[in-house]
Amino acid sequence: MVSRVIPVDPFDLVIFGGTGDLARRKILPGLYRRFWDGQMPPEARIIGAARSEMDEASYRAFVRDAVTEFVSKRKCDSELLDQFIERLSYVAVDARGEDGWEQLAGMMRDGVVKAYYFSVGPSLFGDIAERLHRFKIADDDARIVVEKPFGHNLETARALNATLARHFDETQIYRIDHYLGKETVQNLMAVRFGNMLFEPLWNAQYVDHIQITVAETVGVGGRGDYYDRSGAMRDMVQNHLMQLLCLTAMEPPSKFDPDAVRDEKLKVIRALEPVEPHDIVRGQYRSKDESYLVDVENKDSLTESFVAMKVHIANWRWNGTPFYLRTGKRMKERVSEIVVRFKEPPHSIFEEDTGQSANELTIRLQPNEGMDLTVTIKEPGPGGMRLIDVPLDMTFAEALGEEAADVPDAYERLIMDVIRGNQTLFMRGDEVEAAWAWTDPIINGWEAREDKPKPYEPGSTGPEEALILLHKDERRWRELRA
Ligand code: NAD
Repeated sequence: MVSRVIPVDPFDLVIFGGTGDLARRKILPGLYRRFWDGQMPPEARIIGAARSEMDEASYRAFVRDAVTEFVSKRKCDSELLDQFIERLSYVAVDARGEDGWEQLAGMMRDGVVKAYYFSVGPSLFGDIAERLHRFKIADDDARIVVEKPFGHNLETARALNATLARHFDETQIYRIDHYLGKETVQNLMAVRFGNMLFEPLWNAQYVDHIQITVAETVGVGGRGDYYDRSGAMRDMVQNHLMQLLCLTAMEPPSKFDPDAVRDEKLKVIRALEPVEPHDIVRGQYRSKDESYLVDVENKDSLTESFVAMKVHIANWRWNGTPFYLRTGKRMKERVSEIVVRFKEPPHSIFEEDTGQSANELTIRLQPNEGMDLTVTIKEPGPGGMRLIDVPLDMTFAEALGEEAADVPDAYERLIMDVIRGNQTLFMRGDEVEAAWAWTDPIINGWEAREDKPKPYEPGSTGPEEALILLHKDERRWRELRA
């Protein structure tokens, strides 16, 4: 396949938290892959900025190790890796103090795109923004990339937006949700708005219900105490599942441009109905050998490691079509997917129990990014009219060849969007606030009632009550496979 990679403009990218876990596993290896692909111009430069005292050689060695560990061997060509490493510098800065800032200011070049990635804890976002301004490091065209979590609730998200707004215009702020950088998520928009086939059916008249699942097999592990302050609702639903819901449910934007897309997403969030307590199930993994409560410090924690809920969107398109969301840790399968279950044909011309069932479109974000549409056909051969469901499988690796399936990781794609100045796949401040405005009452209700999460077996599909949530509506979750 011919490479369609278009180099971005020359840039100086500063990674605050350049020695942290996210930088090591995702940001730096992702940048190398963009370099390997020829997307990074020769003048591009990456500056690690973090608390540790470290010289440039040590930082370069750190990055080399990170790339070697997290990039496929095929791409770790030593000559290219050497050239990439030459683009790296390091400066020790104290986000809360004055150390290192003059030096950083002296390193920034004029005439190139300036991007600052805040890959540090959210309590430092304001300090860094203020210093970028005070040390005159950020011009009007500079961009900042802000990691999750974006606030802990509506009040803190508003405060954070206000802090950033003191120093940066909204057009300069890139709130990252890496789910939006996934190939399949963008493909969801391509499929919906690039075909005539789906959009006419994409509404309450033809869609029975939609399921969005983001399940992880791992527990909270070493991040237990961070997670315990957050829980599945804040850590996953308010951001990632909400974004998937928006892209699935939104009206066609008039253009694929940042404000047009984000306006439509915002309308979906604002149309979400409050969730009744009987439409939501919280869970915590627990067995005699393994327990959430062992993994966290607070042995009486009521934080949920699983949540499932039925959500309604109060608008013409979706009136009466429920969206079922579920996410959890220590589940049976690691999978992120959206399942659109269409209605059954209004009348069957075939005899009963011929095997006819409803069409289902599955949009799989991981593993094996791709789409799958089940279609009912006649079972081949004699024996009368017996129907079977066959998948029209659009796994990218198979449909487009291995090279096309080797798509950029979400982080690297999003960082290149930052350099290009394209905010389409980033959350706008009002979107984030609207999402908190919807989740806050749910979380506050739990806290006020001291709601106890239901236990579920590690490695399972979650609490029994989550299955019942759909059974009550005579529906079933798409099965998770071990
Ligand atoms: P980390 O603890 O591994 O790294 C923190 C980094 O911040 C280090 O480089 C450290 O030197 C730097 N730092 C801390 N205090 C500083 C100070 N006062 N001045 C300057 N630098 C300072 O954290 P992480 O896991 O890399 O996460 C970074 C951010 O990304 C967090 O906001 C986190 O919530 C978010 N995030 C992380 C992941 C992940 O997989 N690690 C995923 C999603 C979001």
